[in-house]
Amino acid sequence: MSSTHKVAIIGSGPAGFTAAIYASRAGFDVTILEGEKPGGQLTITTDVENYPGYADGIMGPEMMEIFRKQAHRFGAKSKYEHVNKVSFERPFKLETEQGNEYTADAVIIATGASAKLLGVKGEDTYMAHGVSACATCDGFFFKNEELYVVGGGDTAMEEATFLTKFASKVTIVHRRQEFRASNIMLERARKNPKIDFMLDTVIDEFKGSETNGLKKLETVVLRDVNTNETREQEIGGVFIGIGHRPNSDLFRGVIDTDDTGYILTKPGTTYTNVPGMFACGDVQDSVYRQAVTAAGSGCMAAIDAERWLEAQEG
Ligand code: NDP
Repeated sequence: MSSTHKVAIIGSGPAGFTAAIYASRAGFDVTILEGEKPGGQLTITTDVENYPGYADGIMGPEMMEIFRKQAHRFGAKSKYEHVNKVSFERPFKLETEQGNEYTADAVIIATGASAKLLGVKGEDTYMAHGVSACATCDGFFFKNEELYVVGGGDTAMEEATFLTKFASKVTIVHRRQEFRASNIMLERARKNPKIDFMLDTVIDEFKGSETNGLKKLETVVLRDVNTNETREQEIGGVFIGIGHRPNSDLFRGVIDTDDTGYILTKPGTTYTNVPGMFACGDVQDSVYRQAVTAAGSGCMAAIDAERWLEAQEG
């Protein structure tokens, strides 16, 4: 099947849905290609307590459902398809894994980023039930707990330092002796009396229990990489801080990115180097990565696209 739209939005997190709300409300025919994880990263968190407007907090998946409903209210249509090929000549063509083709005059890229995970046994099972990849999102739920933070870069140092506001103790579990973290962040962590380091160590497995359908992480299996000896350790929670990966592979080589794959936009705007293609949310933001900043840049992308389309037609 092939169909033509004024604006196609790739991605369905806060950035994509906000772009859809604004673009459809501006009267454009908008299709949202929701991708393989409809709702984006917020669907793997539990309570969102820092999104303004929800005084009592809201569950991440529920919040994304409300965003989607609001976009649909103005006529935007969701397709639960994953774009796997993009042609960059205008009008843009987006092909999906499901075998359909979408043509659009303007494309808003809101494909987000994915936290890198360890890929070991139990990690998926206990994600959001004791395992997290976002200290800002979930740290608050670990008051007075002992926590592990995995990683040796700035993300791990930052998350560990942040988590000491809540946790009774934080141990950074890193797979070697040397760190990628900048000196300043490493020193800050070293000086923090609540932070310890466990080096040359990896987590091989996450284990827990399930009571009345409620899963809870209880222990992890730690392995010393020098001796290969393993031991099981009780722990309140584990934060994976081994970095994020922007979901920009589809656009590599044509749309400019930085060395780590984040899409570069013209400062203060959402314009990419390809006229008619705009980028918003975490795929172009390695710094803030918050739902509210993603939503803000989604709004910018819709306004930029609207003005650009009008200029093409005018
Ligand atoms: P990095 O790539 O710098 O570090 C990732 C860390 O995770 C490394 O120590 C790596 O170990 C470890 N790691 C990776 N994969 C695994 C795995 N499978 N198992 C165990 N450990 C693993 O990523 P960051 O996200 O920390 O930083 C990315 C960029 O963002 C950097 O430029 C950083 O400076 C910047 N940043 C800046 C911040 C700030 O200034 N406030 C905050 C956060 C990030 P190994 O070293 O052995 O490869």
